[in-house]
Amino acid sequence: MSIKANFAKLKTVSDMAWGQYAFSRDVVNNKIDDAQRREFIRRSYDCGAEEARRIKEEYGDLGPEMIAENMGMKLIEKTGGDTKERFMFGQFNMPNKISLYVDNIRKTEHMMFDREIDRSLDGVRLRDVIISHELFHSIELTDKTLYTSSVKIPLWRFLGYTHKSGIYALGEIAAMSFARELMDLTLNPFIFDVVLIYMKNDDRGNAATKKILAFDHKQLSE
Ligand SMILES: [Zn+2]
Repeated sequence: MSIKANFAKLKTVSDMAWGQYAFSRDVVNNKIDDAQRREFIRRSYDCGAEEARRIKEEYGDLGPEMIAENMGMKLIEKTGGDTKERFMFGQFNMPNKISLYVDNIRKTEHMMFDREIDRSLDGVRLRDVIISHELFHSIELTDKTLYTSSVKIPLWRFLGYTHKSGIYALGEIAAMSFARELMDLTLNPFIFDVVLIYMKNDDRGNAATKKILAFDHKQLSE
């Protein structure tokens, strides 16, 4: 299948399937049963959307960049950010720094256009998705009472000591949900994760697409 056809299909994937996909990449995934995982996914989507509504009420519907600036964030444009495993697109650093890897963002925008997948992506600006996504991470890292930062699961027990860990996937799901609500999108911005994988190479992009569509198929047949 062409990359264009893949994205047309990815656009129809359910929120739950994207959540399952996010969990499949989390090291704690095998410690969690399916019912628990579904609950985590639903509550993370709710958490992100709720925070976005709260922020819009407080700052107005100004768009991610202006909102970030009004919240005291410093947006720093960087070049580079290419590792063997993946390209970097954005990063949040305490207390208020959001780095944007502008070369990678620009290259990705060209790729989306050249390979005709931009229409499947509703013309959404990648830069805005990244700013929104990182903005959520800034909120969850400063508010320890937030759902995604408060959930901990026991990883191992030893001599009466229990080591507990947070769950990375929760923050990723909530950050995407936050971006969708903040930007009033109809698509699930998780789809951009796959765009970024295609930037590294087509084989990996195709493999990720296959895996996500399998999660979606599993949801539908249940
Ligand atoms: Zn993230």
